[in-house]
Amino acid sequence: MDDFMAAAVPDAADDLAFIPLGGTGEIGMNLNVYRCDGRLLAIDCGIGFGGPENPEIEVMVPDPTWLAERRDRLDALVITHAHEDHVGAVAYLWPQLRCPIYAGPFVSAVLRRKLGEAGLLGEAKITTIPLGGRIKLGPFDLEFLRVAHSVPEAQAVAIRTRHGLVVHTGDWKLDPDPLIGGPTDEAAFARLGEEGVLAMVCDSTNALVEGHSGSEAEVRRNLAAIIRGLKGRVAVTCFATNVARVESIARAAEAAGRQVSLFGRSLRNAEAAARECGYLTGLEPFVPEEEAGYIPDDSLLIICTGSQGEPRSALAKIAADTHPAIALGEGDTVIFSSRMIPGNERGILLVQDQLARRGCQVMTADDHMVHVSGHPARDELRRLYQLVKPKYAVPVHGEWRHLSEHAALAKSLQTVPVLVEDGDVLRLSPGRPEVVEGVPTGRLAVDNGRLLPVSGGVLAARKRMLFNGVVMASLAVDSGGRVVGQPQVSAPGLFDGETPESAQLAADLARAVGELPSALKREDDALREAARSVLRKAVGRRLRKRPNVEVHLLRI
Ligand SMILES: [Zn+2]
Repeated sequence: MDDFMAAAVPDAADDLAFIPLGGTGEIGMNLNVYRCDGRLLAIDCGIGFGGPENPEIEVMVPDPTWLAERRDRLDALVITHAHEDHVGAVAYLWPQLRCPIYAGPFVSAVLRRKLGEAGLLGEAKITTIPLGGRIKLGPFDLEFLRVAHSVPEAQAVAIRTRHGLVVHTGDWKLDPDPLIGGPTDEAAFARLGEEGVLAMVCDSTNALVEGHSGSEAEVRRNLAAIIRGLKGRVAVTCFATNVARVESIARAAEAAGRQVSLFGRSLRNAEAAARECGYLTGLEPFVPEEEAGYIPDDSLLIICTGSQGEPRSALAKIAADTHPAIALGEGDTVIFSSRMIPGNERGILLVQDQLARRGCQVMTADDHMVHVSGHPARDELRRLYQLVKPKYAVPVHGEWRHLSEHAALAKSLQTVPVLVEDGDVLRLSPGRPEVVEGVPTGRLAVDNGRLLPVSGGVLAARKRMLFNGVVMASLAVDSGGRVVGQPQVSAPGLFDGETPESAQLAADLARAVGELPSALKREDDALREAARSVLRKAVGRRLRKRPNVEVHLLRI
């Protein structure tokens, strides 16, 4: 077969495969692909955070190139729930995928706002599927199953194909009283178990946690008891889309005679989406942010964004005392009704430290029962495996230690585990599951609306600048390459304005360029490269650093 024929042959056309492109072996950025008879189905499309190893990056998305190149075979993007690590990248990546989107009512309401902000609402088509609905997309027959999670209307997806039935759980937990929506539909999972499940692709987040994740109802009772006993201003931070939690906090405030104000855009967006879907009814109207400061201290509670220490969030501004509408201090209380997402610890602790310095009392899930996880602990995983009885288990949504503990647990429950990571093509059928090929994956940084490869030239240069600074020189030469005037050297991040060092570097540069061979000096590119090399050496000698070095050549 010649190269042209090889390129023309489509990806395997008669199998069922699972292809994680993000979220497996790392935190966040969930992007899962199923392939059936050559057709593709994507499930979820989320963001991740840069974390301490990528301080120059705030938000990352999975690289969709492989999928985008096959978008003529992509039947749909299905979203399981409204968390940022599952839906947050749609507005960034849809322009490359351009496929129909299917989701439940709350996800649709959240996503329409995001696509609207990105100016894509007219182009991207979202089809709202009723909860527990069923739809056929190409060779995929999808049934949605209600699961409890820390966001309204999370759903698992049962994927029926001619090769067998796969259960994609999405994020889930078992909670007899999730407060909003019903508990996980265990009867529906049991029915799938009776039908016969080939494989279950399942949440591994809390696979290291023994026991049970706990109930949202218990958090509601505790928040009510804590808030009733507090004096002064009270602020509570939680995830914006945790509508049950927002409702619990608001009710606790009302019971304690406090008016409620929401601080932060993502909270107000989530509130609007929640009200659109019939949630948060029966609460007093929230006080607008700009009026909160006029309410007496003991009569106010604010719910704010920033539980992950995000630097531009409402809580970070309050902690730094730069918020235009409110100030907290001595006698006030801030409750973190949330967990620390790995990678965000430093940012969160910084905010908590600033609040403590202002005299605020800080309460967290470490010392008070003010949060429960939305993910299954080991008893809940055991229960689901007993209901679904999958032949094979594919742990996803976690780092390696979560995936491997999950695999060991599945094995103890008479299920054969298969470990995969992003970019693996796991053929589920025909035959025994195995990784048959790899596809390119990667991460892109969101940089003011642009998407840049995390390991690419631009961000590598920025990281170098962050640690080593940058040196820039402007060099004017005549047609023969003789230096005209004095080169200008500046080095923001290394020294301030005109200094003896910059004058020395300029002199070094002029002298070394003068000594270059005259043939080389008549060629712009060669001269610029030689000047850069000369300057780099001078900088290394004088500053003992290896910054980014740039030379602007002006031929006059
Ligand atoms: Zn989630």
